[in-house]
Amino acid sequence: MRRGLLVLLAGLFAFAPALLSDYWTTLLDYIGLYALVVLGIVLLTGIAGQVSFGQAAFVGLGAYATAWLTTAHDASPWIGLLLGLLVTAVFALVLGLITTRLSGHFLPLGTIAWGLALFYLFGNLEFLGGFTGMSGIPPLQVLGHELRSAQSFFYPIWLCVLAAVLSIQWLLDSRSGRAIRALRSTASMAQSFGVDTATLKVKVFVYAALLAALSGWLYAHFQRFVNPTPFGLHVGIEYLFMAVVGGAGYVWGALLGAALITVLKQLLQSVLPQLVGSSGQFEIVVFGVLLIAVLHGAREGIWGWIDARITPLRPHRRMIAAAAAPAARARPAPDSVLLEVRAARKTFGGLIAVNDVSFEQRAGEILGLIGPNGAGKSTTFNLITGMLPLSGGEVRFRGQSLAGLPPARIARLGIARTFQHVKLVPGMSVLENVALGGHLRGGAGFVRGMLHLERAEERLLLAEAARQIERVGLGEHLHTPAGSLALGMQRIVEVARALAADPTLLLLDEPAAGLRYQEKQALARLLEKLRGEGLSILLVEHDMDFVMGLVDRVVVLDFGVKLAEGLPRTVRDDPVVIEAYLGA
Ligand code: ADP
Ligand code: MG
Repeated sequence: MRRGLLVLLAGLFAFAPALLSDYWTTLLDYIGLYALVVLGIVLLTGIAGQVSFGQAAFVGLGAYATAWLTTAHDASPWIGLLLGLLVTAVFALVLGLITTRLSGHFLPLGTIAWGLALFYLFGNLEFLGGFTGMSGIPPLQVLGHELRSAQSFFYPIWLCVLAAVLSIQWLLDSRSGRAIRALRSTASMAQSFGVDTATLKVKVFVYAALLAALSGWLYAHFQRFVNPTPFGLHVGIEYLFMAVVGGAGYVWGALLGAALITVLKQLLQSVLPQLVGSSGQFEIVVFGVLLIAVLHGAREGIWGWIDARITPLRPHRRMIAAAAAPAARARPAPDSVLLEVRAARKTFGGLIAVNDVSFEQRAGEILGLIGPNGAGKSTTFNLITGMLPLSGGEVRFRGQSLAGLPPARIARLGIARTFQHVKLVPGMSVLENVALGGHLRGGAGFVRGMLHLERAEERLLLAEAARQIERVGLGEHLHTPAGSLALGMQRIVEVARALAADPTLLLLDEPAAGLRYQEKQALARLLEKLRGEGLSILLVEHDMDFVMGLVDRVVVLDFGVKLAEGLPRTVRDDPVVIEAYLGA
C-alpha cells in the first residue's frame, strides 16, 4: 500500500518536466544538485557526527576537473567525470585522514580551513580561469542526445539523487552502516566490537566528497560555465544549513532541506527587496531566524519532527529469515588458564585506580570481581579490553600478551564486554544494536553494503542477533528502539550484543543493576547456562546475593588493591573483606 503510493508519486515526479514550467523545472534541477551534496552531509555530519563546512569545495573539484578537461583538452564529459571523482577521492582521502582525527571544535574549524583554501586555489590558478571562471563547457551527451535544456537535465540529476538515496539507505542497513551509526555517540563501544572507527570515518568522508563532486560535474555541464563563487565557504555553510533544517540525521531530510531552502531563497530574493525597499541579501537574516527556530523547536530538523510522528505507527522492521548461525569459535580446553592479569596498574594523575592487581581466570569459570564503588573494577575491565592503556603490569589472554593492542584487535581474540554506563545506539532497534555485536563475524564492507550485495551474510548476522535476543528473553522487543527500553533492559540488550560476538570471555559490568528480582533470577540462570556451554565470564556486580550464589571464585578490590581472592564462602567470611566491603 505505502509502496504503491511511493511508486505513484515517483511516477508523477518523472513527468514533472512535462508538467511544470521552465522556471520550476530549473528549480527542481538545482534542488537535485544541492540534494546530492546534502545527502553526503547527512551521512557525514548527521549520522557519523563529523561536522563539515567544506563540502562546497568538493563540488568545485568535480566541476573544475571536468571544465578544464573538456575545454582545454576537448575530452568527453565522461572522462571529466572520471577525473573529477579521482581528484576528489585523492583530496578527500588526504583531508579526511587529517580532519577526521580532529575532535570537538577543531573538526569544523579544519573543514573551514580547507574550504577556504580550495576556494582561493580555484580563483588563483591561471589555467582554471582565475576568478572570472571558465566558459564554453560542452553539454552532456547521452545516447546521442545533447542535454541542453532544464527539462532534459532533470533526468540525469534525479537519477543520481535516486542512486545516492538508495546507496545510503542500503549502506545504513548494512554491517558497515550499523558501525557508522554508532560513530557519533558510542565510537568506543564500536571499537570494542571490532570496528576500525578511524578508517570508517575516512571512508564516510570520501563518499560524501564523491557525492559532492558528482553534483559539481552535473552542475558544470548544466551551467556550461564555472567560476569560484558557488564553491566558496558561504555556500558550504548553506549546504550544512539545508541538512540541519531538513533533518541532518535523515536521508529524506536532505531532500526536504535542499527543496525548502532553495525555494525559500528564490521567494525571498524576489519578495524581500520590495518589502524592505532596497536590495541586498536579506534572505540571510530570514535563514538565520529559521535556523534558530528549527534548533529550538525541532532539534532533529523538519524531517526529524515528521519522523517522530510516523515511526511509532510503522517501526522499521528488518526481515529476519531463518538462517544457520555464523561460524562459531573453537572453545579453549576446560580449566586451562584463559586470562592472566599480572600486577596490572592504572594511574590517573596522582590517583592509583588499579594498584598492581593480579589474578587468573580459567576457561569455563565465572569469576566475580567485587568491591565498593570506586574500587577500580570498571577500570580493570578497560585495561583488559584495551580501552585504557596499562600504566604498568601485563594482561595475557590465552597465552598472548595484550599489551598495546587496540580494543578492536582484542575483540577479535574473543573478548566481549558490556558497559556499566550503557552504550547502545538509542535510535537503532534492539535487533540492530545486537547485530553490531556480531560485527567481526561478518566481512561485508562499505561498498558491498552500499550496493546491497551483502544480503546472504546480513541474513546470518540478523538471524544470529535475533537468536541472542530470544536467548536473553527480549524476543518481543526486537524492533523497539533500544533507547526507549528501561535501563535494566538496556543492560540485558548489552549482554545479548556481547553474546552475538561469540566470545570466549565475557566481561559483564554490573549487568543486574536496575533489574527486578525475577529478572535477576532469569539473568543468573542464563549465566549458569552459558557457563555450561563452556563460556567464561568475568562478572562485576554489586548485589552480593546475586554474585555469591553464582560465581565459582571471587576477587575483591578496594581502593585499587586486591584484598582477597577465593571461594565465595571463604571470602564472605573474611574479616578484612567484611570491614572494607560492608563497611562493618
Ligand atoms: P568501580 O568500577 O570499581 O566503581 P572505577 O574503576 O570506575 O571503579 O574507578 C576507580 C577510580 O578511578 C575512581 O576513583 C574513579 O573516580 C577513577 N577513575 C576512573 N576512570 C577515570 C578516568 N578516566 N579519569 C580519572 N579518574 C578515573
Ligand atoms: Mg564500575
